[in-house]
Amino acid sequence: MKRTGMNMERVKQQNRSLILNYICSKGPVSRKEIALDTGLTAASVTQIVSALISDKLLVELGPSSESAGAVGRKKILIDIRSDAEFFFAVNIEPDETNIALCDLKGHPVKDRSGNELISGFATDNSVPAEVFLDRIAEECRTLSFRTSEARRKRIKAVSVGISGIVDIYKGISVQAYGIWKDPVDIRSILGGKLDLPVMVENNVDAFAIAALLFGTGRGQDNLLIIKWGPGVGSTIVIDDRIYRGRHGKTAEIGHTIMDPNGSICNCGRRGCLETKVSYRALRAIMPSFTPETFEESYEKASPEIKKQIDGAIDLFARSIVNTATIVAPRRIVLFGKMFRIDSVRNKLIEHCKAFDPAYSEKRILHTTLSDREMYVGPAAAYVQNRLQNFPAFAASSTETATETVMPTMGLFPAPMRPIISTCAGTEEDPAN
Ligand SMILES: [Zn+2]
Repeated sequence: MKRTGMNMERVKQQNRSLILNYICSKGPVSRKEIALDTGLTAASVTQIVSALISDKLLVELGPSSESAGAVGRKKILIDIRSDAEFFFAVNIEPDETNIALCDLKGHPVKDRSGNELISGFATDNSVPAEVFLDRIAEECRTLSFRTSEARRKRIKAVSVGISGIVDIYKGISVQAYGIWKDPVDIRSILGGKLDLPVMVENNVDAFAIAALLFGTGRGQDNLLIIKWGPGVGSTIVIDDRIYRGRHGKTAEIGHTIMDPNGSICNCGRRGCLETKVSYRALRAIMPSFTPETFEESYEKASPEIKKQIDGAIDLFARSIVNTATIVAPRRIVLFGKMFRIDSVRNKLIEHCKAFDPAYSEKRILHTTLSDREMYVGPAAAYVQNRLQNFPAFAASSTETATETVMPTMGLFPAPMRPIISTCAGTEEDPAN
């Protein structure tokens, strides 16, 4: 009977998380929509939603405009209470670092003048990691002082996204190509400076979570996410989960070998895709290259240079098609500064189509989160973590909470399915 009690608690928690996740991704929604889409009974939804409203995690927004004035029962919309708590979303990449003070819906908080609390600056890889993290902590403090004291008191954590290999369990950047040479314990260093819990995620994995939660990936179970920024990053999502692989090293499209005799890559191997398409590689072909001026430089370039650039894009397309052949994702989602350029994206898709006509713009597409790319990854990683680790999420939403416990920061449990338990004493295992 004891085991049943534990199971019932798990059932309750998972159903709460399921509802919170659903509302986060689809909200505002009505109770009826929640029941229909999650498979939970109307009675369960009503009960859980009421508890979450009392816990100040959800808020009733009143009747929807569709139902206002209509005959019959009005449809009351429910949403995440975005101001329940706040956190810093920090995205560190080789060229730039961005910080946003975000709410629980992953949106930047605004100051009194209506400006979003976002700060961006060049990543300084010439100084020791600790010195640069000090700068980050300082920027976080500056942002926090642009909001009210009441909100400042509700800042509960820091969520960091960083390029390269990350130990999400320990919060360590193991190998941040192009940023730091040695492992950096971001959780301890930044946590110590700001006196807040810190979670650390790979930047592309974090963006994949954003795509699943807020963007193009919503409702998609299998995705291939590809970033073209200073380097190349990619992530595979299988059955709604990020495929982590051995040592968190997965889907490294940028490090697929294109040319055994090519130049040495940041990863130590030779001739990786990244050595052909990174900013550095593009500058070697076209010295005036920057992502911002790419189109102009390309237009003015000689036929030989254009051919070399097109060749680099063709290699990228080949890598994508080969990877997608193995993974068979429903969608391939592109993001990063280079993919913001329409002509680059179109060229890449054309090259993919040349390999396989099935690569339509519906299968390989640009993220809908393009204008939030600088912070949305770590923001989504934090929101997702809080929704799926309900006890910590709930505890930190109350002013009386003593400490936010995040033992599984960055860990995502199995995709949640509705667990309907109506009969006390059953031995059903929610995990199955
Ligand atoms: Zn490499």
